[in-house]
Amino acid sequence: MELWQEQIRNRVNTLERLKNYINVTQEEERAVTEMSTRWGTTPYFAGLMDRDDPSCPIRRQVVPSLKEQENTYGVPNYLIWKENRATDEVRPDAIARQYKDRVAFTVTEMCAIYCRHCFRKELVLERELRLRFDVEEGLEWIREHTEVRDVLITGGDPFLLSDDKLAYIVAKLREMPHLQMIRFGTRTPIVLPQRITEKLKSVLSGRHRIPIWINTQCNHPKEITEQTAQAVYDLLTCGVNVGNQAVLLKGINDDVETFRELHQKLLTVRIRPYYVFYCEPAHGIDHFRTPVEKGAELIRDALRGHTTGLAQPMYVVATNIGKIPLMPDYYIQDRNEKEYTLCNYQGRTTKWPNVPE
Ligand code: SF4
Repeated sequence: MELWQEQIRNRVNTLERLKNYINVTQEEERAVTEMSTRWGTTPYFAGLMDRDDPSCPIRRQVVPSLKEQENTYGVPNYLIWKENRATDEVRPDAIARQYKDRVAFTVTEMCAIYCRHCFRKELVLERELRLRFDVEEGLEWIREHTEVRDVLITGGDPFLLSDDKLAYIVAKLREMPHLQMIRFGTRTPIVLPQRITEKLKSVLSGRHRIPIWINTQCNHPKEITEQTAQAVYDLLTCGVNVGNQAVLLKGINDDVETFRELHQKLLTVRIRPYYVFYCEPAHGIDHFRTPVEKGAELIRDALRGHTTGLAQPMYVVATNIGKIPLMPDYYIQDRNEKEYTLCNYQGRTTKWPNVPE
């Protein structure tokens, strides 16, 4: 058994095991014992939790909370709505679609950790929504839809599949002449870096007409370790770029210092900040949600001009009609026929010629 498989087999998903890592509060104990929700983490990620601080940013992503029973802003049947699963287009359960040329291909509902803020909670954590993720059906659908040029392989976490299964999916997709890229959405570089094994590297590596891209999810600088750095470096040596899709989470990364440190630290381990997502209106995650404008304010106050352009993600609200960028809006202070008045991150202004068509 490989190290990563041992991490999964020894997942921290009982109160007894949790107590080996943290001093469990009464509230946490009640949430774990009274709520019927799938929860758990790899021992590796559990080891990053603060033993005594219940507000530890890693602990809050891992340990269930009684607040998950509250639901003021959650949209009913969120995932059906968000992933356009109730439209007229007939698609296998494995295919979610918001755009003509790119689709999400769900291949598993298993994850290495069950994040408390997951917007796919109905499917992955609560399992109220039963969908059939048949890989063959999904492949067949993509093969027939020649307008699709970009496939995002997602879950759950696709890297929980065996190397052989991943090799099979990649090989089948790479046989399709209309495809131009394959993307994986996986949290493993952050929560299970042991997963980036020699065998997996051989599945991903090699120059091919259809490149592989990876996006991971890291929400707090504390999640980045030496092992993260090694896993990402190994992926890069296979020709696979790693981007980050953070989720804006109240009390975890919604302050200027943490937000800036997160994006700067990602670059130190060669992860490129890509998106920051507004925490979606799935049920039971109200306690993680900020006002919508918060992400744009953080980009304005923590990143734009304050640090390198490489550390600038796009802040988006991911809706059923696609992602809507909500970026800060201070750059153009005035415009006339002759010139623009442009404003920088410090509030200083300058003039720039307005060039006619
Ligand atoms: S790894 Fe992704 S899909 Fe799995 S629980 Fe976390 S956010 Fe949800």
